[in-house]
Amino acid sequence: MTERLYYTDAMLRVFDATVVELANEGQRAYLDRTAFYPTSGGQPHDTGTLQGIPVIDVVDEDDRIAHVLQRPLTGAGPGAVVRGEIDWARRHDYMQQHTGQHLLSAVLEDVTGFPTVSVHFGAGSSTLDADDSAGTGALPAAVLLEVERRVNGIVAESRPVVVSFEDSTTAAGLRKPSERAGVLRVVSIEGVDRSACGGTHVATTAAIGPILVRRQERVRQGLRFEFTCGDRAIQRARADLDALKRIASAYSASIDDAPVLVEAQATQLRELQGEVKRLVERLAGYRAAELHAATIPGPDGLRRVVERVEGGADSARSLALAMSAVAGTIFIAASTSPPSILLATSPDTGVDAGRTLRPLLETVQGRGGGSPRLAQGSAPTTEAVDEVVRSLLAAANG
Ligand SMILES: [Zn+2]
Repeated sequence: MTERLYYTDAMLRVFDATVVELANEGQRAYLDRTAFYPTSGGQPHDTGTLQGIPVIDVVDEDDRIAHVLQRPLTGAGPGAVVRGEIDWARRHDYMQQHTGQHLLSAVLEDVTGFPTVSVHFGAGSSTLDADDSAGTGALPAAVLLEVERRVNGIVAESRPVVVSFEDSTTAAGLRKPSERAGVLRVVSIEGVDRSACGGTHVATTAAIGPILVRRQERVRQGLRFEFTCGDRAIQRARADLDALKRIASAYSASIDDAPVLVEAQATQLRELQGEVKRLVERLAGYRAAELHAATIPGPDGLRRVVERVEGGADSARSLALAMSAVAGTIFIAASTSPPSILLATSPDTGVDAGRTLRPLLETVQGRGGGSPRLAQGSAPTTEAVDEVVRSLLAAANG
């Protein structure tokens, strides 16, 4: 049985304990007591050192807690007193996230009626999943803001966060009924929340620091809220600010003016893209007429136009569409990099582009296909492209 020192003193960073057992050739240590928090309840384990050796994992084995060490604990067998030291930056960060989650869950349920069903505290961000089996859907932004405003208000009130041990049969007013029998560890935020929890928490709501609800998304049967608390919220806000500064700087504007400018530019970009598309089509029409006039019809009366392009035959698509609108035209676009080919035919030619191109590509180990009017495909080499072009032109005389 390992005595869990963090149950009663979450602020304990350094402790002495007696070695009870060593397993896995000294790399798995069991102590009579520990301040190391094992992975459980969505909160990751502590790290730190035991007798100077890095603790890389802490495992909850019900009665006992195993400390997994980076290297064997030598010279300190069972009965020896060892010193444990918690990586406080990591632990305190998770204490802020965890206590912030209790507060957020309580206020969220109070405001929206959504109970929290699961939580996850990650290295980057933390999430809580709320049950929405009633199918209410995503919260309006104003409701989410109200939740955020209220939790931060309670943070500012610096309410005590206290731990008590209560019998499961008499523990009343828990946010979520506990399935455990016997003694419950109850974590209370004065006047706001009472939860059965074995995790580590800060001593007052003020120590949570700012709480930022970053986003919500639909997940199975519910809503997931991503949030950050304390130092992490500041770091996140700093990263956001840096990103915004870069955007604003690109517009030579202030951060406050940037959103309007970005939106205006996005609208302008869409308009310009439409304009470019129209111009490309018009240009293709002129080019098609030009190519048509410059090409002598073959014995079958059809004009076979070959256009060499770069960057893939697909770049000639607008021209191909324009060419297929000119009577008696077979248009071929050939690209060397990547080796590819495009075939377009006007309806009166009676040539089915897809059915014509596909077998020719197959003979050179290429692949592709398309509709009767427009087909395209890729070939393994430039020589293969040329071979297909030659075949298409030879068909005129065949
Ligand atoms: Zn907790």
